[in-house]
Order: sequence, then C-alpha cells, then structure tokens
Amino acid sequence: MDKNTTVVIVGAGVAGLTLGNFLLRRGIDCVIVEKRSREYVEQRQRAGVIDTRAARMFREWGLEDRVIGGAPFESAMNFRIDGETRPLEFGQDDHGDGRFCPQQVLVRNLIDVFVSDGGDLRFDAEVSVENIDGDEPLVRYRDSAGSTRVISCEFVAGCDGDRGVSRTAIPSESLTRYSHEYGYAWLTILAEVPANHQSMMALHPHGFAGQFARGPQASRFYLQCPLDSSTSEWTDERIWDELETRFGEPMASRGRIASTQLVPLRSVVYSPMSYGRLYLLGDAAHIVPPMSAKGMNLALHDAEAFANAVVRHTNDQDSSLLDSYSSTCLRHVWNYQAFATWWTELVHNAGDASYQGEFRHQIARADLTRLFESGSANRLFSEFITGLN
Ligand SMILES: Cc1cc2nc3c(=O)[nH]c(=O)nc-3n(C[C@H](O)[C@H](O)[C@H](O)COP(=O)(O)OP(=O)(O)OC[C@H]3O[C@@H](n4cnc5c(N)ncnc54)[C@H](O)[C@@H]3O)c2cc1C
Repeated sequence: MDKNTTVVIVGAGVAGLTLGNFLLRRGIDCVIVEKRSREYVEQRQRAGVIDTRAARMFREWGLEDRVIGGAPFESAMNFRIDGETRPLEFGQDDHGDGRFCPQQVLVRNLIDVFVSDGGDLRFDAEVSVENIDGDEPLVRYRDSAGSTRVISCEFVAGCDGDRGVSRTAIPSESLTRYSHEYGYAWLTILAEVPANHQSMMALHPHGFAGQFARGPQASRFYLQCPLDSSTSEWTDERIWDELETRFGEPMASRGRIASTQLVPLRSVVYSPMSYGRLYLLGDAAHIVPPMSAKGMNLALHDAEAFANAVVRHTNDQDSSLLDSYSSTCLRHVWNYQAFATWWTELVHNAGDASYQGEFRHQIARADLTRLFESGSANRLFSEFITGLN
C-alpha cells in the first residue's frame, strides 16, 4: 500500500485539477493520478471559453488571478451570417465575466497552482479502480519504474473523461446511458497563423464554420462536415478555400495546418453520476456538443459540487451533499443538454439545409432573428451562454 488518502482523483483534466485545488485549499488530503505525461496534458488543445459562472467560481475560491488572470473577457458572440458581420451582444450587464481561455492554458495554470501549493500529482499512471462498493476503495497503477502502486481512499473521483476507466467500474445494470447523435461532424483544425478575429462563427449554405484566436500565431478553426467525411479528403488548400467561402472574406494568412481531427457531434449523459464510493465528474459522466461551449464548464460545475460535498462530509460529518451529488449535477446537466441541443441544431440548420430540409432551415432562421431582435429571447440565451441559468 503506497498511501491512504481522502480522495483519489483519477485524471488531470479540468475537472480533476479543479477539484484537487479546491480540496487542497480546504485542507482535505487528495492524490491526482493521470495517465499521460505532464507535457502532453499541458499541450492538449480543446475548449476555449470559460463562462461567467465558472469564472466567478474561481474568484470565490480565491484562484481567479492565478488560474484565469489576464484572459480576455467575452461579452458578445460574433457571427458572419451569409457573409455579413453581426455581433450578438449578451443581454444583461452583470453577465460579462466569461473569458477566452484556451483549455491547455487553464490546465497548465491549475497544475502549477496545485504543485506549488504542495499537491500530490502523479503523471504517467494508468489506473484501475477497485472495491468502490466497499468501505475502502483502491486505485492501482504501475509507475514509470514498473512497480505497482496502490492508494486506498475514502472516495474516488472519476475525472478521466469519456474514455477513462472509472465509469467501467460501475456494474452496467446500475448505469443508464442516454445519447443523441446530431448527424454531422466538425472538422477541427489547428493552424499556425493568426486568426482574423478573436472569435467568429459563420452560418453559410455550405454549413457552420468557427474561428478562435489561440495566441498571436495560432488559431482554431471548425468546419461542419458530413459524418462520413475523412481528414484525408481535406487538403490544406481545400480547408482554406472552404473557410473563405463560409466566412465570406479572405483569411489573414494561409499558413501551416498543424493538425486536423473529425469530431462527430453528440450528446451523452450517464445516470446516476455516483455508485458506492465512486463519483463521476465532467466528460466521464456527460458529453455536450462543442457548439454549446459547455463541456468544460459543466466539468467545472461538477468539480465545485463534489468539492463542497467532500468538505461538508469531512468537516461536519454530514453526507447530505454527497448523497445528493448525482441528482444536483444531473439537474444542471440536463438543463444545459437542453440548451446545447437547441443551440447546436439552430446554428447548423440555419446554415446547410441539406441535413434536415428547408422547413427546419426556415425555423432556425426565425429562431436566430428572434435572438437578435427580441430582448427577452436574448436575455434567456445570455443566461445559458454565461452559465447563470
Ligand atoms: C473541439 C472541441 C471544442 C470544445 N470547446 C469547448 C468550449 O469552448 N467550452 C467548453 O466548455 N467545452 C468545450 N469542449 C469540451 C471540453 O474540452 C471537455 O468537456 C473537457 O475537456 C472535459 O474535462 P474533463 O476534465 O471532464 O475531461 P478531460 O479534459 O478529458 O480530462 C480527463 C483526463 O483523464 C485522463 N485519463 C483518461 N484515462 C485515464 C486513466 N485510465 N487513468 C488516469 N487518467 C486517465 C486523461 O488523460 C485526461 O487528462 C470542447 C471539446 C472539443 C473536442
């Protein structure tokens, strides 16, 4: 036995690292074990927007400056609709704490804070999770020297993403999977060029496109494409041509494309989000389509809910928040799945009518017009996009 601790956190993504930092700040012993190397997780590019709710959460936990300090604020979404620029301002003054913060920057900062504050973080450790329905769960892994390490704990936090192992420790008859496939994919593109805009989304008869600055010499682009598309069909020239068509303007520069990946758009929820002494957080329990920019933000919500539950249990011997963790998080998750489904379908149907037909195209355009022209529609939308609903 290597160590006994209160919580073993499996996975050093945003959910696991945020939970670890929150527990550390409340003096609760924990260990984070991560399958990949530190270099790998600090460079893995994905999300880019921290919503207002999550930004305020870091402020309340005293981590705002160290974790998201300096990240630019997000107060509007910019669209190119059939080649014309239209900003969609967020409706209410008090909604403006959201930040553009690349996920790898957040992860890097969370690791720095955790390690410099004395946290126990172990990389290159692919774990197995055992005995979650007993009193003393075990997390086992082989270290880089080939020795088997075993950590016993009170609770396991499964923060190991959609393809992790924690969830598989739950007997299949005790877990229900709900899912929805949207019927199209995104080609995600990482390019070594400046973006034309900090953020811009295009709606065009060829489909949705997105662009986000990732520093002065790097950008993220997204192109809606059919599910059976393959990355080999997308030459650099075709990608740049298609971006210029959908945005209706020349790109600032046609530089090197560092990587492309196809991401089918889907929603998934696993219920319940706990079993025995195992609690699932973030992508291990739910996936939302990236259009909603909510995946990372839901993971951050789970991290705070679970941290509060463990603190209450440890300090006050009160397990009520642990008992209600799954139902609390699932209520939040389904609320945002509803938003993500509506928003994803609206944006994609408003562009390419060939997936769902002209009727749905016209409905999506009517929904979009209402967002720009109706104060109450815009207010509700703003509440969701900022995470305050
Ligand atoms: C293209 C794209 C764009 C996105 N844009 C946004 C956005 O703008 N806003 C937003 O909120 N969300 C966005 N998301 C979603 C967001 O990236 C995820 O929801 C988020 O990463 C979930 O965090 P997590 O900590 O739950 O999981 P992850 O970030 O996946 O972290 C899981 C960790 O567990 C580790 N692990 C896996 N298996 C094991 C094991 N067996 N043992 C130990 N460790 C293990 C992994 O290596 C990883 O480090 C986007 C996603 C994509 C693909």
